[in-house]
Amino acid sequence: MSQNGILIVLSGFAGSGKGTIIKELMNKYDDFALSVSATTRSPRPGEEEGVHYFFRTEEEFRRMIDNGELLEYANYVGNFYGTPKAYVMEQLQAGKNVILEIETEGALSVKSRYPEAVLVFVMPPSVDEIENRLKKRGTETDEVIAKRMRKAATEIEAVDKYDFLMVNDVLSESVELFNSIVRSQHMAVSNNLDRIDETKKEFAEYLNRKKEN
Ligand code: 5GP
Repeated sequence: MSQNGILIVLSGFAGSGKGTIIKELMNKYDDFALSVSATTRSPRPGEEEGVHYFFRTEEEFRRMIDNGELLEYANYVGNFYGTPKAYVMEQLQAGKNVILEIETEGALSVKSRYPEAVLVFVMPPSVDEIENRLKKRGTETDEVIAKRMRKAATEIEAVDKYDFLMVNDVLSESVELFNSIVRSQHMAVSNNLDRIDETKKEFAEYLNRKKEN
């Protein structure tokens, strides 16, 4: 069994319900860790520093880039977003499956640096539903919603480079599907090379013992 956790990237249009899937998953299973990103966007009502994001000025964000503190970063609709590297590495080494909830550009740069990462894209059942959910949330102006819809239309272009696609219709089913993706990834041969080596050694020892007898 691989000692390290799995690095999972979860992306999806606004309103795909990806945040809720993660929340449910983390309530149910204790071997997941969620990376908290840094961003230059302003907090929405109810968002807390260090819980939802690390809210930073553009100058502070650029310093993080220059110091090599970010595993990836991207500009999304006029703001920077990035994943602090140290926490992710620490948690993976501790055997946790680390989830990055990030947009497509960042996702693809994670995949090119860490090919073993699993990329999952979540969609709501329809495009109209994306706009409905954004409007219902009531946290963005019509102008920002229009920008986010245009952005979503470009994000679909990156999805064919992902590993898995989930349509989030029934929440409890999506949580289990997501969990099974991660569990099966633990069984991927590429995540079990140590075990294969150990088994080879065991066989060699076994055959030696047999020769001696
Ligand atoms: P929001 O402003 O709605 O919280 O996030 C906007 C987009 O930025 C979402 O698609 C979200 O997944 C993405 N995002 C959040 N954190 C990061 C990050 O650290 N890196 C990248 N590349 N995207 C992020």
